[in-house]
Amino acid sequence: MTFEELGLSPNTLRAVAESGYTEPTPIQAGAIPKVLQRQDVLGIAQTGTGKTASFTLPMMDILSQGRAKARMPRSMIIEPTRELAAQVAENFEKYSKYHRLSMALLIGGVSFGDQDKKLMQGVDVLIATPGRLLDQYDRGKILMSGVQLLVVDEADRMLDMGFMPDIERIFKMTPFTRQTLFFSATMPAEIQRIVDTFLHQPARVEVARQATAAKTVSQFLLSLPRNDPKAKRAALRDILVKEKLKNAILFCNRKKDVDVVAKSLSRHGINAAPIHGDLNQSIRTETLAKFKAGDIRILVASDVAARGLDIPDVSHVLNYDVPFHAEDYVHRIGRTGRAGKKGISITISTPIDHKALAAIVEMLGKEIPEYHLSDAPKPSATKPVKSTEPKPKSESGRKTRRTRAPKQEPVQQDTKPAKAKTQTATGSPFGDHMPDFFSKD
Ligand code: AMP
Repeated sequence: MTFEELGLSPNTLRAVAESGYTEPTPIQAGAIPKVLQRQDVLGIAQTGTGKTASFTLPMMDILSQGRAKARMPRSMIIEPTRELAAQVAENFEKYSKYHRLSMALLIGGVSFGDQDKKLMQGVDVLIATPGRLLDQYDRGKILMSGVQLLVVDEADRMLDMGFMPDIERIFKMTPFTRQTLFFSATMPAEIQRIVDTFLHQPARVEVARQATAAKTVSQFLLSLPRNDPKAKRAALRDILVKEKLKNAILFCNRKKDVDVVAKSLSRHGINAAPIHGDLNQSIRTETLAKFKAGDIRILVASDVAARGLDIPDVSHVLNYDVPFHAEDYVHRIGRTGRAGKKGISITISTPIDHKALAAIVEMLGKEIPEYHLSDAPKPSATKPVKSTEPKPKSESGRKTRRTRAPKQEPVQQDTKPAKAKTQTATGSPFGDHMPDFFSKD
């Protein structure tokens, strides 16, 4: 299957070719013709499958006819988080290079003034998070009666985040005759109910779920004997020393820990910054941009803030905690090993994580190989030299404990996939290594 066979316009095909895509992914091959035929689509696919292009590309062709009126967006894309909304907007800009379409991004944390101005000028595509969209609606800045095309992306995430009442409201405010494109990685009963209520005979396009974690990710588990936060942070630093990683996303289960861990790493001279929902938007955007540019090495994140972020070059995912939901484990480790590259994930567990860990192992259908710290260099040799910030006394006392602990572990030889980092990208974003979940089966 080629992009040319999908029915896209020459302008769209040109932008696709310039993006370096040579063939459509399964979700694109399945959804694009249906969207162009103006059918409702239920796309069951997760992030990383190319689903963003599966709705943005045909949308552009549909919207190329017609003109936007003030305050009446012609289409809307609803995303659960600001970061995802911004990412989709970025994609849209890239793909719509040869179209004359106006787009506005409506997310919290951005001043109302600029957004109002754009909306007044009329937009073809409005990309928004539900909260800010409804705020603007309630302020009388938007009319939804001109929406011909509505995209709801990452619906199951919206459900987790409590946005379903907002989504229902949005559905009810847009015209019954609209075309709806609805994407969800999973189909819990509540999502099915929404689909049955608001979509009209949707074409169902389902791509192979990433039921097992991507094969491009080598997974490891470091089990600690006690749930001691200090020991956990020390173990984390030992991992960082041992791995010599290029960059990493480090996940914590709680926002509070995101801050604590990021601060602790910074105090130890490690280049890290936090990202979670309580930080203001400009900081989140800046942090993400710096991480992408390589100016921040460790992005300490909560699940929600990091969900769906497309950062192709992450060498490691570190789970500071075992995620509460097994599915989140797959989402998390899917942040590395993207675009055909190899990645490493290391999960730290303590006795309180046993239940969550058992669920993950059951889902994976296999144990996660043990991670050994034993051959970590001595902290003194690796300590990221003095930072100008004062070091808390409690941290320094730990060093001696840390040097002893690893000796109890058996010496580990070459089970570690250290080669992973030498992998280089080739022409296409996926090179010769299509991630597993891209293939049909
Ligand atoms: P998404 O699932 O939309 O987040 O896309 C994941 C990644 O796949 C993004 O980096 C896209 O740029 C890339 N991508 C999307 N479509 C294609 C394609 N047909 N061929 C290669 N890469 C693609």
